[in-house]
This record gives sequence, C-alpha cells and structure tokens, in this order.
Amino acid sequence: MKKVVKFGGSSLASAKQFMKVGEIIKSDSARKYVVPSAPGKRDKKDTKVTDMLYGCYALAEADKNYAKELKAIKERYNEIIKGLNLDMTLDEEFKVIDKDFAAKAGSDYAASRGEFLNGKIMAKYLGFEFVDAAEVIFFKADGSFDAEKTNEVLGERLGKTDNAVVPGFYGSLPDGKVKTFSRGGSDITGSIVARAARVDVYENWTDVSGFLVADPRIIDKPAGIETITYKELRELSYMGASVLHEDAIFPVRMEGIPINIRNTNAPEDPGTWIVESTCQKSKYTITGIAGKKGFCSVNIEKAKMNSEIGFGRKVLQVFEDNGISFEHMPSGIDTMTIFVHQDEFMDKEQQVVSGIHRLGRPDSIDIEADLALIAVVGRGMKSTRGTAGRIFSALAHAEVNVKMIDQGSSELNIIIGVANNDFETAIKAIYDIFVTTRI
Ligand code: ASP
Repeated sequence: MKKVVKFGGSSLASAKQFMKVGEIIKSDSARKYVVPSAPGKRDKKDTKVTDMLYGCYALAEADKNYAKELKAIKERYNEIIKGLNLDMTLDEEFKVIDKDFAAKAGSDYAASRGEFLNGKIMAKYLGFEFVDAAEVIFFKADGSFDAEKTNEVLGERLGKTDNAVVPGFYGSLPDGKVKTFSRGGSDITGSIVARAARVDVYENWTDVSGFLVADPRIIDKPAGIETITYKELRELSYMGASVLHEDAIFPVRMEGIPINIRNTNAPEDPGTWIVESTCQKSKYTITGIAGKKGFCSVNIEKAKMNSEIGFGRKVLQVFEDNGISFEHMPSGIDTMTIFVHQDEFMDKEQQVVSGIHRLGRPDSIDIEADLALIAVVGRGMKSTRGTAGRIFSALAHAEVNVKMIDQGSSELNIIIGVANNDFETAIKAIYDIFVTTRI
C-alpha cells in the first residue's frame, strides 16, 4: 500500500502543527510521499506566508526596500525550525531568494518559495528526500500544465526513492522559469504526485473533516459527506464548494485513485472519500448543495424560433465573439435564455445585444441581473422518484420564486436559478427537506 499525503497551509502554520503532521505520517508507513503547502495562518488575524511573499515581491518589483518584509518571512520559518529543534538554517536559501528578488525573478517564483522552503523543513524533519518541484513538474510554453512529460519524469524520479517530499503549488516552464498553479494549487500537485507514483490513495489533509452537504456559513453545522464521486465533486466544486482545488481531481481520476480528505486536527475522523464510482448509497437522496451568486440571464424571444435552423448557433456565436462563456441555456418554444457571469458580461452587454439583433433578428431581448444558481447534486437522484418535486415544493413553501430549472442529462444534478436575495433561503429550504427532516 502506498499513499501520497498533502498537507494544507493551516496544517503547517507552526511547529505545533508540524508535529501533528509528523505523527500522522509516522503512524502509517504507507504514507511515502509528502506534498506540503506554505505555512498558512496561525490564527484568524495572521497572514499566509504566500501572501507575505507576494507583498514582499511587489515591493522588490517597484524598486522599494523589502528587507523588513523578507525578514518577517524568514522569522516565520525560523520559528518552525526552532520549535522542531532542527539542526538546520535557511540562511543560504534566503540569500538566493534576496538576490533573485532584486533581479526581479517574477511573482510566481516569489510565491513558490513558500512551498519550497516548507518542503526543505519537512524533508529534514521527516528524514525524507527533498525533490524540487521545478525539476519534476512541467508547464508548456503557453503556460498550460504538461501532464505527460511530468508524469514520465516525476514517475521515474519517485521510482528511485522510497520516501520523498515534493513541495506543492509550482513547477517550471521550458525555459526553466518557475510557474505556479492558481491559488490553492498544492492540491493539484498532490494529485499529480499520486498519479505519477501510482499510489493507492491520495490523502489530502486540511483543517476540516471533509466535505459538508452545504456551506456552513449558510447552514448551521451541516451534515458531512462520507463518500462522493469525482463527478459529483466536480459539480459541487464548480459551484463553489471549496475544500479542494477544482482541478485537483483530474490527474488522479485518470488512474482511478481515490482521494481521502482528512482533518489534521482530528485525525481519527474518517473524512470524505472521493471515488470514481461506488455502490455505497449516500445517506440522503442528495449528496450536496452548492451555489454561486452573480449571474445574469439574457432572455431572447423570437416567434417560431424552434423551426429556424441555426438560430441557437448564431446567438452563441455572439457570446463567443465577445469572449464570454455561458453557464446554462434553458429554452422554450419561442424563447431561449443564456446565463452568464455578471462581471464578465457587464462591460460587453450592449455589444452582445446588438450582435444578437444583427445575426439572429429576434423580436426582443431582455436582460435580468442579480441572479444566483444553486446546484443540487446527487448520484441517488437518478433512482429516486420525486426529487424535483420535493425541491420545488420546499422552495414554494419558503416563498422562493424559481427563475430557471435545468436538469443535466446525467440526472446527477438539478440547477436552479433564483434571485440573489433568495439564495440563502433557497439553500436552507432544500437542505431542510432532504437532511433535517429526511422524509
Ligand atoms: N500556498 C499557496 C496558496 O496559498 C498554494 C496552496 O496553499 O495550495 O494559494
């Protein structure tokens, strides 16, 4: 049995947290490869080292003095080294970083040092080999991730070592420059390492005991999710559930490796299992609810739209020409609606309206703003009658007006459009009907 274990920033924010992580790794010899984030917040008011690095580098780039800021970063690491009683210093590393900042090595390089340095400490603490991510994780010249080259080189490298620490969040471009993934990207590194090392499980350790059925900022102490499929998770994370980076499932999914989300502060909790497929039924008919505010709908009307070949293509062409992606497209007999992100759409709305008029000659176009989309996701919905009925009667009882309904062909989710103002009420109503009352 082999496992990759990834630890998030809050799990590595202090020496005390490092010790918990050390215990977790040592308690299971299958935990062979470790992917650390940079030190996160020690308490609510604290600053993540990654943010300190971005701030410090911004000064360097503006030719301002950044010595004080760099010293504060070094102190964060020294505090950890001292607390762990390690016989090491990062003096040499910081000299190099200082030189590179002065030479304006780039903000990606700057941010990546958070994981790089934490990886050095972690490797020393565990007695594992340190493998610099810049040597084994690759991006193409256009900035996209080079999955195949990475898998080959990283797989070969890890094949030569029983235990290694690979810092998260970054890799290198063909010219050798460091590039990072988007924020929270150490989750992606963990998944890449899991694929390359062909492990049995990718454990992702964080500060919560897995995924919750709904957002705890909306629902008080929501129920947890024991098992969720990659597809369900994809829907939920796309719609805002944020425990794991939304791109982190792709590498492990290629190999069918399960992800287990665990809590560093409650290691006995089983957490959430993310799997390809399962015969385990979820506890409730639905697996989870997530949603996002800030959409608007473009409602287009044209008599006999349905019999006009090519009308839909022309409308979508206008969105494409304006560089706007659309989220949903419910349609009626003489109507079609396009849901878009309000902030992406706002600047270009009049170009879009005139573009549709020019290409499609509709009777009217009406734009409605401040809408929210809610996704009710669950593999159990396919085999359960009445799910949609329960959702909509719950919403009616809560006096929420439903603006749009879209059930994907997979029957894995139902997407509901409501006004931004009704967002929280709608989520509460749906949660209550499936989880609290569980009828
Ligand atoms: N340290 C990076 C961030 O704060 C990456 C990560 O933690 O996954 O976004």
